[in-house]
Amino acid sequence: MEDRFDGKVTRTAPGEAPMQDRPPQEEPARQYYFIEKCRQHVLEESRRLGHPLTASVVTFGCQMNARDSEKLSGILERAGYALTDSEEADFVIYNTCTVRDNANQRVYGRLGFVHSMKKKNPHKRVALCGCMMQEPSVIEKIKTSYRFVNLIFGTHNIFKFAELLCAMYENDRMVIDIWKDTDQIVEELPVSRKYPFKSGINIMFGCDNFCSYCIVPYVRGRERSRRPEDILREIRTLAAQGVVEIMLLGQNVNSYGRHLERPISFAQLLREAEQIDGIERIRFMTSHPKDLSDELIEVMASSDKICRHLHLPLQSGSTRILQAMNRRYTKEQYLALAEKIRSRIPDISLTTDIIVGFPGETEADVEETIDVVRKVRFDNAFTFLYSRRTGTPAATMEDQVPREDAQAGFDRLLSCVQETAREQVARLSGQTQAALVEEVNDRDPSLLTGRLSNNIIVHFPGSPSLIGRIVNVELLENRGFYFVGRMAP
Ligand code: SF4
Repeated sequence: MEDRFDGKVTRTAPGEAPMQDRPPQEEPARQYYFIEKCRQHVLEESRRLGHPLTASVVTFGCQMNARDSEKLSGILERAGYALTDSEEADFVIYNTCTVRDNANQRVYGRLGFVHSMKKKNPHKRVALCGCMMQEPSVIEKIKTSYRFVNLIFGTHNIFKFAELLCAMYENDRMVIDIWKDTDQIVEELPVSRKYPFKSGINIMFGCDNFCSYCIVPYVRGRERSRRPEDILREIRTLAAQGVVEIMLLGQNVNSYGRHLERPISFAQLLREAEQIDGIERIRFMTSHPKDLSDELIEVMASSDKICRHLHLPLQSGSTRILQAMNRRYTKEQYLALAEKIRSRIPDISLTTDIIVGFPGETEADVEETIDVVRKVRFDNAFTFLYSRRTGTPAATMEDQVPREDAQAGFDRLLSCVQETAREQVARLSGQTQAALVEEVNDRDPSLLTGRLSNNIIVHFPGSPSLIGRIVNVELLENRGFYFVGRMAP
């Protein structure tokens, strides 16, 4: 079908909007223009190859990356690709993480693997994006050693994916587009969600905290918050689509909104989000202890929708090490905060992240951390051996801790964490709690897997038709960090 538009003839499919011959300047209209253009490229290539084109998004790293991958998938789907989990796909995109040096090694490993597939299927295309691509040394290495890669972009211009995809189709050479920073936030682009009933929502991007071991502020840029009205509109749309649980995402949600033209606190945003009908559960991630306000504790305590779970990264229990980490709180301040939260919200589950082996850490420092674990009684803790991250201040600190010493401290900490976490989880035995049914258990298909408000998992017999519903489950048997139960009558 042909249409006349601005005096020019363009070709469109029946029922589709006519395409302008020049891309609009404003977003997101510009990206929708390129999505349409991509559709034509995808269609032509699939005709040439004689099969529908497939695409696979492989995600490394955190929840922010997982959410970015849903956005990439949304654009790929709109452009006409069939999504698959297999790296055999016609187009594979690796959404990378660079938190640890070994995360980079994993990506290089995948590239070696995909290169062998590309030798057999020369039409196959490969793209790289995410945090690792913000490092100039990585780009240099890919340009020299992985020349088969078709497209590279970073964290700041992910919204331009459709435009870059088009450039990839229209160029024989590697397309590289990395921005150093941005203050641009583009709303209303397509998203393909992994779960129909729950969704992550970015409320902010970047981080201003510069913890001395962390690369995130360098690769994700300065903190920028989305406008509350955009966030709330997205939540309303999700609720209308049947989403019952949302997870508000940011590197430090507790400082949300402070740089907005009309500043608003995270607690105020939660209050507004709670009003939206259809949303039954609200989670958020991640909270920096230095910015966690009394206002937030009050909003959580009085809410029926905000989940009884707070992830509050401790990182170390030694004030001296916390200072070297640039965390800007002391052991005593952390303990006082945890105590305040537990006394105001007694049924809360507190989880944390801890690093062992930070430069200069002694046995006595590890004992301080263990002391905090004993006092706070975390419901779970993710413990990490310090990994020297090139490009961060901590990487050049003197007194790097020998691996064996760090490992010994790590083992002592881990057994303490396991002991307290087990006791914490066991206290729920025999209770009946509401669980959001997420999926059929991957090991035993007669069981469903549900998540309690406090983020603990329960497996119980039931019909897959319950997936996406919130049901009451009796917690019968504690198996360490999860429960086996049955649906309450
Ligand atoms: S708060 Fe610290 S650890 Fe978290 S992203 Fe920012 S710099 Fe990294």
